[in-house]
Amino acid sequence: METVSERVAQVRAAFATLYGGEPTLWVQAPGRVDLMGSHTDYNEGYVLTMPIDRTTWIAARPRDDRQVRIHSLNLASGESFGLDDIQRSEAAPWTNYVRGVAKVLQDEGYALCGFDGLVHSTVPFSSGLSSSAALEVATATLFNELCGLGLDPVRLAVLCQRAENTFVGVNCGILDQYTSAAGRAGHVLLLDCRHLTHTVPPLHPDIAIVICDTRYKRALTGSEYPQRRAQCESAAATLAQRYPGVRTLRDVTLEQLDAARTLLDDTVYRRARFIIQENQRVLDLAGALSTKDVPCIAALTAESFAGARDLYEIVVPQMEAMIAAMRCAPGVLGARQAGAGFGGCMVAFVERGCVERFGEHVRAAYQAATGIEGTVFAVEAAPGAGVLTVG
Ligand code: ADP
Ligand code: MG
Repeated sequence: METVSERVAQVRAAFATLYGGEPTLWVQAPGRVDLMGSHTDYNEGYVLTMPIDRTTWIAARPRDDRQVRIHSLNLASGESFGLDDIQRSEAAPWTNYVRGVAKVLQDEGYALCGFDGLVHSTVPFSSGLSSSAALEVATATLFNELCGLGLDPVRLAVLCQRAENTFVGVNCGILDQYTSAAGRAGHVLLLDCRHLTHTVPPLHPDIAIVICDTRYKRALTGSEYPQRRAQCESAAATLAQRYPGVRTLRDVTLEQLDAARTLLDDTVYRRARFIIQENQRVLDLAGALSTKDVPCIAALTAESFAGARDLYEIVVPQMEAMIAAMRCAPGVLGARQAGAGFGGCMVAFVERGCVERFGEHVRAAYQAATGIEGTVFAVEAAPGAGVLTVG
C-alpha cells in the first residue's frame, strides 16, 4: 500500500483533474473487523469489534447549488445528483450509498448543501471488512462537517444503517456503521447492539490482529443472510410464548433454550444456541484480550469457529482451509471467522513479534490447500470517523 502522503498526493491530483482546484475538507471513515460476535448484532446482542487502519476518504469542496458530484478513484466512476430529488442510480449503483445517506439525512430534517467529492478507499470491497459502511459513514461525516449538523457518532451510525436498509436495500445490522463512527485508536469496542452503547476495553499491546482474506466470495445477496435472521426471529418468537419478556435472543439463557428445545425445529434450535453462546464469548474475550489470557483466547476463538460451522452453518471449505493454515502458523493465539461468513476475511490473534512469519506460513499453507492466493495483513486499532488533517 502507498504511504499516507502518496495517498494524499494521488487524491489531490485526481481532484484537480476532475473538478479543478483543491478540496477544502477531507474526511475519513475506517473499515472494521469483528473480533467476536458473528450475527449477534441483529439479535440485539454484543459484538467485540475494531475499527481498522484501512479507511475510506472523501476529499470535498462545498458548492453553492444543490448538486452533489461524487467520483470514486477505486472504481473510476462518477455521477451527479440533485439534493431536491434523490433517486436510485442504476448506472453507478455504488453511488446509492452516498445518495441514501443524503436522502435519510434530509428525511430527518437536516439541511444539506451540495459538494464536489472524491472517494478513495483502502478497505477491500465485499470481503467482510465493511467498505459499504465506511463509505456511508464518510459521507455522513462530510455532511455533518460541511453543513454543521451536530450529529453524534451513534446517531450518525443509526442514520447510515437506515440508508443501507431502506435505500440500498441491504438489511444489515448496526455493527458496521457503529464501529466506523465510534471507535477509538488503540482500543477495541465492546458494543451493546440493543442499547447502542459501548465501552472501549484496551487491547494488550503484544497482540496483533491479522486479517486473513480467503479471497473467496459467496455473495450474501442470496438467501442465506435473511434466512438466518428469520430463523433467529422465529426462535425468539417461540421462546417468548414460554418466557414472557423475551424480545430477541439477547434475552434468552442457554438453560431456557434447552428447557424449551422440543418447541423448536432442530435447525432453529442450533441457530439460537450459537447466538446465545456467541454473545457470552464476546464478553469473555473482551477481558482475555486486555490481559492476554492465551488459553482463554484460544478456547473462545475455537468454540466460535466450531459453532459457526456446526450450528450456524456459515462456513465454506475455503474457510476450513484458512483456519487450518492459521492454526498451525507461528505465533498464533487464536483464529476465527469474521464478517458474515461464506468466505471473505477471517481474523487471527498473533504474537506481535511473529506477524511476518505467521503471514508467510498462512499464505503458503492456504495456497497449497486451495490453489487460491489468500492475502494476509496486520491491522491496527484506528480512530473512528472524522476530519482528516492533511499536510
Ligand atoms: P463490504 O461492505 O463487506 O465491503 P458490500 O457488498 O456491503 O461489502 O459493499 C461493497 C460495495 O460498496 C462496493 O461494491 C461498492 O458498491 C461500494 N463501495 C464501497 N467503497 C467504495 C468506494 N471507495 N468507491 C466506490 N464504491 C464503494
Ligand atoms: Mg457492507
